Amino acid sequence: MALIVKKFGGSSVANNEKLLNVAKIIEKDYKAGNDVIVVVSAQGDTTDELLEKAYSINPKGPSKRELDMLVSAGEQMSISLLAMTIETLGLPVVSLLGWQAGFSTDSNHTKARIKKINTERMKTELAKGNIIIVAGFQGLNKYDDLTTLGRGGSDTSAVAIAAALKADRCQIYTDVDGVYTTDPRKVKGAQKLDKITYDEMLELANLGAQVLNNRSVEMAKKYNVELEVLSSLESKPGTIVKEKVK
Ligand code: ASP
Ligand code: MG
Repeated sequence: MALIVKKFGGSSVANNEKLLNVAKIIEKDYKAGNDVIVVVSAQGDTTDELLEKAYSINPKGPSKRELDMLVSAGEQMSISLLAMTIETLGLPVVSLLGWQAGFSTDSNHTKARIKKINTERMKTELAKGNIIIVAGFQGLNKYDDLTTLGRGGSDTSAVAIAAALKADRCQIYTDVDGVYTTDPRKVKGAQKLDKITYDEMLELANLGAQVLNNRSVEMAKKYNVELEVLSSLESKPGTIVKEKVK
């Protein structure tokens, strides 16, 4: 039995049909006897829409504390919706907000850094046999105020959980089937890579590849968490990201 951390981005959980698709991917791993922790982002364009709302009230920019309070709601919605979808498959599941999953961060609102993860609650839920759905992107500072990890921060949430719990696998699902030399959504004939190093991945990200969030790759490198980037729509191997590749 393995511990698998799976992260699904906003496009992978954008509507009921996609939620069911994701639930079935999770079901497969769970029924094979694995412990499964799932990190999700807000559905579709929810985060952008929430930010738009905020700036429509105050174009000069609301306080960062209140922005975090607002945008973290996107992930609160998606974790509960995914958990409800998994309930329809008859599987035991619990959704957890970032703070419930133990994420402590600094107070740098809208770009907070993770300081510590208290893994107790997650361990308890796994021991009960539950699939855990964690809100990506969210943390709590020392004043008990909600924080967020910066745009695309759910990748970092997933890597941090994988590192803290020494997961056997950390899979980042997206709407492309792996890492390409150039963006396959924009360039025809782009080549998919089977493997790539953390450093190459960071370089690609600097060149504008939007597959993995930079901080998540830095964290994966620091804690030596091997990542797999794969598609939530097609079941085939993706790209492995690790320290050394042949
Ligand atoms: N929902 C947040 C964002 O859009 C976090 C994430 O997607 O990882 O930036
Ligand atoms: Mg998002």
